[in-house]
Amino acid sequence: MKNWEANVRRVTPYTPGEQPDQPDMIKLNTNENPYPPAPGVREALKELDIDAMRLYPDPAAGELVAAIAECYGLEKEQVFVGVGSDDVLAMSFLTFFNSGRPILFPDITYSFYDVWAELFHIPYERPALDENFHIRKEDYFRENGGIIFPNPNAPTGVELPLEEIEEIVARNQDVVVIVDEAYVDFGARSALPLLKKYENLLVVQTFSKSRSLAGMRIGFACGNRKLIRYLNDVKYSFNSYTMDRTALAAGTAAVKDQAYFRETCRKIIETREWTKKELKALGFFFEDSKANFIFASHNECPAQELFQALRERHIYVRYFPKGRTADFLRITIGTQREMEILTDFLRKYLDGRDSRAKK
Ligand code: PMP
Repeated sequence: MKNWEANVRRVTPYTPGEQPDQPDMIKLNTNENPYPPAPGVREALKELDIDAMRLYPDPAAGELVAAIAECYGLEKEQVFVGVGSDDVLAMSFLTFFNSGRPILFPDITYSFYDVWAELFHIPYERPALDENFHIRKEDYFRENGGIIFPNPNAPTGVELPLEEIEEIVARNQDVVVIVDEAYVDFGARSALPLLKKYENLLVVQTFSKSRSLAGMRIGFACGNRKLIRYLNDVKYSFNSYTMDRTALAAGTAAVKDQAYFRETCRKIIETREWTKKELKALGFFFEDSKANFIFASHNECPAQELFQALRERHIYVRYFPKGRTADFLRITIGTQREMEILTDFLRKYLDGRDSRAKK
């Protein structure tokens, strides 16, 4: 091995869910929204000034920041935006997890957290979820260099009650606690109201799920002014122009249409509750999900077998083959019609399997 290679920052990267492209596919593997973005997004993009693309975008993303602040009743100085919440979270790890003490996040959670910790050389520990995949708040009542967890958690969909989140934030006021609310709009309680009480809390959200804009890459963080100023200092030391003109226009239009946003979330929640009943009747079990996915295991058929069978029918779901998650499939909630096709397929497949076994 030549010397230069000894000096490379080596990482095992995060593996994003696959993006297959078949005309007949049902894509339930990356928690995207099955409905299109708000109508105003189309209008905003039609009106984009192409000539202006020669100019850099607004480095402060002022219009988008103002629209988000207004939507959530915050000051503009309390909002930070980035290229998807992945970018916002990476910047937050770099900015706030800098003590040398281990940061804490659950053993089963968003699999990007350990990748960022490795990338930035941040020590970390991973308290185990309990046997029902719930976070035990007590695991976070000890010395640490910072805390992060999604609420609802991914890939389990389990919500941590707001009172328990508050306890974790209150008992850790010497470090920053990040609540990753990628899926909060599908029925969980947001920690945003706690921002008034705690200056060590950062709440991160995304436009990729509830606002149907995964392809535009928009995420944001809310916190007190000081936290946001520190985040911006790191951002401006890394890349001043993270948000391009197209994303700024699309994001601003999306956040201004609250009625469309609420209606889309309502439909997804309704379909999720319908899907829960169907899956239960088919022999699946799962913890109650407050996200736009269900993390389910079948009482007889191995997850890997179902994953393959679904794939052959071009129904894509997500499978995490290692450890305690290996018996589960993470199934994104699509349209009602897509979920009917999914459950019909599963019914036929499991029936066929049953009769094959009896022969
Ligand atoms: N947090 C969690 C828990 C997620 O599941 C995801 C989606 N992969 C993200 C953050 C990142 O989403 P995005 O970068 O699209 O905002």
